[in-house]
Amino acid sequence: MQIAIIGGGAAGFFAAITCAELNPACRITIFERGKNVLEKVRVSGGGRCNVTHACFDARELVKHYPRGSRELLGPFMQFGPEQTVEWFAQRGVPLKTEADGRMFPVTDDSLTIVRCLQRAAHQAGVQVHTSARVERFAPMPDGPWQVWVAGQQRPLVFEKIMVAAGSNAAAWETLRSLGHDIVEPVPSLFTFNTKDTRLRDLSGVSVPNATLSIPGTKLSADGPLLVTHWGLSGPGILRLSAWGARDLHRVAYRFPLQVNFLGNINAERAAEALKEVKVEQGKKLVAAHAQFGLPLRLWQNLTLAASIPEAQRWADMDKKNSAALVGQLTAAVFLIAGKSTFKEEFVTAGGVSLKELNFRTFESKICPGLFLAGEVLDIDAITGGFNFQAAWTGGWLAGRAMASLNASALP
Ligand SMILES: Cc1cc2nc3c(=O)[nH]c(=O)nc-3n(C[C@H](O)[C@H](O)[C@H](O)COP(=O)(O)OP(=O)(O)OC[C@H]3O[C@@H](n4cnc5c(N)ncnc54)[C@H](O)[C@@H]3O)c2cc1C
Repeated sequence: MQIAIIGGGAAGFFAAITCAELNPACRITIFERGKNVLEKVRVSGGGRCNVTHACFDARELVKHYPRGSRELLGPFMQFGPEQTVEWFAQRGVPLKTEADGRMFPVTDDSLTIVRCLQRAAHQAGVQVHTSARVERFAPMPDGPWQVWVAGQQRPLVFEKIMVAAGSNAAAWETLRSLGHDIVEPVPSLFTFNTKDTRLRDLSGVSVPNATLSIPGTKLSADGPLLVTHWGLSGPGILRLSAWGARDLHRVAYRFPLQVNFLGNINAERAAEALKEVKVEQGKKLVAAHAQFGLPLRLWQNLTLAASIPEAQRWADMDKKNSAALVGQLTAAVFLIAGKSTFKEEFVTAGGVSLKELNFRTFESKICPGLFLAGEVLDIDAITGGFNFQAAWTGGWLAGRAMASLNASALP
């Protein structure tokens, strides 16, 4: 059985290896338009490749996917992070877990993952063609698929094909022409731009746990917050960018962001705490003594924004001063104007509509014999290894289904 895989990335390689290992009668060809395969794996995780996340309960795992959570539950029960760890370990690549749950190869080198996948594909007999851009693919009336590779005069013929082309406009266009609905692609995982004076000269300053929300919407997120040269970043912001990818695109990335720098300490509790400081540290200068463990420079900017004079002592704080300071600490509003790329990881929200896929096999419901996995689908996650996990899972299930002559007989 001849199988074509369009795209030599994480999903394409995983599918090819799975299929070839299960059914040596399958002759699998990966077509990769670039000079090298697995380029995103190589640059991922700052060159370390955050392969997956140590979240071994599928019900918990799906909560990290703004798009795809419902559909991925079943697939993750079959092939989740536990199986990913095992898969790489069996091929001589142990993974380690960092304090925040992210999993990397123990070598801290993404090339370990690239080489492992290339070696496994080679050993399983997968053919890999680089600099081979697929221009078009279409089913023939009697079932098989024709694939047009750039520079080749005649189309090649395959029994099954898999599109694992990532976020690729041309591939989506061909899929649309075959009847698939493509959810508009928009960026996800980005940082927020703001020129707010309260953040001036604070680049590099971080807060361990802030609560972020966008007034007038249900969007909110918790997590560490980092001030950058251009605005705000850190896990909390990235999480919000993923959950808000569509809504924020709609408003051209211009919106108010409300920040509680104290995390789960609300305005009432913050006011109570400040009253105690007034009693216990009355003689000290407000601006010079940061509270709640906040970095001093941030505290100083917030007291300034609350119009508290530099020479003011805690004992002289009146109700108005305290209310203004509590407001800055727990409900500071920043006007966001634009976004920046988070260079460590970014993905596209949008792609092939999930309604059109059989999630037991990752086969198209519209075009039999066409399989889809990875970023080409309308699936994406917050940062932390979840995006690769979706690619490994989809690739594995598609590979298994392609290997079987009768996909409906799969357990
Ligand atoms: C800088 C960066 C760092 C990242 N780090 C992480 C991380 O540490 N952990 C994590 O979980 N996720 C990370 N991600 C996200 C992750 O890389 C993607 O989710 C994942 O690569 C998707 O895999 P894929 O196989 O679907 O697509 P891709 O990896 O994008 O592979 C698709 C391949 O198809 C090829 N292709 C496209 N069109 C054609 C065509 N017409 N013909 C032939 N070939 C074609 C492309 O050249 C590409 O090689 C990162 C992303 C970026 C950009």
